[in-house]
Amino acid sequence: MAAEPAAGQAGHVTLVGGGPGTGELLTVAAVKALRDADVVFYDRLAPYQELASLTSAELVDVGKRPGHHKVSQGDIEKLMVASALEGNNVVRLKGGDPYVFGRGGEEVASCVAAGVPVRVISGVTSAVSVPAAAGIPVTHREVSHMFTVVSGHAPLTEKELTHLAGLGGTIVVLMGIGTLHHLAAGLRRAGMRSDMPMAVVERGYRPGQKTTIAELGNIATAAAGCSNPAVLVIGEVVRVAEANRGHAEAEAELDRLAASLLGS
Ligand code: SAH
Repeated sequence: MAAEPAAGQAGHVTLVGGGPGTGELLTVAAVKALRDADVVFYDRLAPYQELASLTSAELVDVGKRPGHHKVSQGDIEKLMVASALEGNNVVRLKGGDPYVFGRGGEEVASCVAAGVPVRVISGVTSAVSVPAAAGIPVTHREVSHMFTVVSGHAPLTEKELTHLAGLGGTIVVLMGIGTLHHLAAGLRRAGMRSDMPMAVVERGYRPGQKTTIAELGNIATAAAGCSNPAVLVIGEVVRVAEANRGHAEAEAELDRLAASLLGS
């Protein structure tokens, strides 16, 4: 059991980035903050299944799924602040990094407005780590020297699509399944090649992780059965993953061959 807070003593809030969903990718600071917490308010994208082994704090599920807001953002902020004002050491555990499409800035602002001390522990964002789970480097020498991280929550404007298509670097899209059709068609209209490689990586680091690779021109059909959470990657780096995978498979085959020769 977590210790009772001392009467009259003010608590504080720590926003913790939980990484893409596996306890293995929590930072050391995140593990310490969880260990010291009295209460943890957690999201569904955070590594919540492992929480019981990481902390003895009270665990509160404020998980949200697209379209099913279990606890509203405003209520989450009120709950966090009220708990800290009661004297608790509160952890707000979020998926990935708190400041990447995580509404972390709003949660900090509501603590500041209520006079509650607050700090933020960065997390491993899914924007980089989920492509990596599929072997895709978001940058690669002589292939892509920039990556842009985009929210697919709302459709992009024509102007944004034109700029994005003109950049020539890797495009990473979070929350992009619902607008995938619109994005692919829009990038084509903006002049991107229809054979530009594209990947959809679903459920990174979780059971059922799946990668679908296609091209901009046929991704909408290829990814018809894909669901959230997923990260989309558009760019030549997707081919690097395919080449590396081929290499890894060839190495494994050589290892097997060497082992069987040595064994015989
Ligand atoms: N703050 C988070 C992002 C929150 S937005 C971060 O930095 O990662 C939620 C989106 O993140 C999801 O819709 C999905 O696009 C992506 N995402 C988070 N975890 C994921 C995972 N394990 N696998 C695939 N996508 C994931």
